[in-house]
Amino acid sequence: MTKKERYFKIKELLDAEYSEAECTLDYTKPHELLISTILAAQCTDARVNIVTKTLYNKYRTVEDFANANYDELCNDIKSTGFFRNKAKNIIECCRKLIDEFGGEVPDTLEELVTLAGVGRKTAGVVLGDVFDKPSLVIDTHAKRLAKRMGFTKNTDPYRVELDLAKIVPVKDRSVFCHQLVYHGRAVCDSRKPLCEKCVLNEYCLKNIK
Ligand code: SF4
Repeated sequence: MTKKERYFKIKELLDAEYSEAECTLDYTKPHELLISTILAAQCTDARVNIVTKTLYNKYRTVEDFANANYDELCNDIKSTGFFRNKAKNIIECCRKLIDEFGGEVPDTLEELVTLAGVGRKTAGVVLGDVFDKPSLVIDTHAKRLAKRMGFTKNTDPYRVELDLAKIVPVKDRSVFCHQLVYHGRAVCDSRKPLCEKCVLNEYCLKNIK
């Protein structure tokens, strides 16, 4: 089977398993997803959601974050780790949203990656989930599963993204990456993948090579 043929089989099975796969960060406004994704670096989505439940009540707008007191914001997001850098990026990012984008989150990759703390991964999350522009989001799960499935030999996220872009149709990209996160958490653990119980094992290169 070619990589593409295996991809379509795997996607069919993932669709059956995780038909509701979606972003696991809680948000109600575009800038909230942007900030949650910044906070999610080196942190779990579950922890971020606990922190943002209070945070988004205290800071309700882009302006609130842009005018936040640095030390206070550090304290508010402390439990997500790397909080000094994250607080600095959040304030800078929101100031730029106001100064250059009319207080709105921009909807292109090129513009998003000019914001403090925003790389291709964060931009991809926002594009896919806020603007419905399907994007490949290469987090730790997507990277690991794409390699085990034999869709890439690379570990650098950008190279993994380029390899997946050759086989994953544009319309599937965001959902496929969400499904990889769900499957990575449920079955394809980083240390102990449960291959014998995995619905994908017939088409996953880890088992068929
Ligand atoms: S067969 Fe194993 S390695 Fe492949 S996706 Fe399933 S659990 Fe992961």
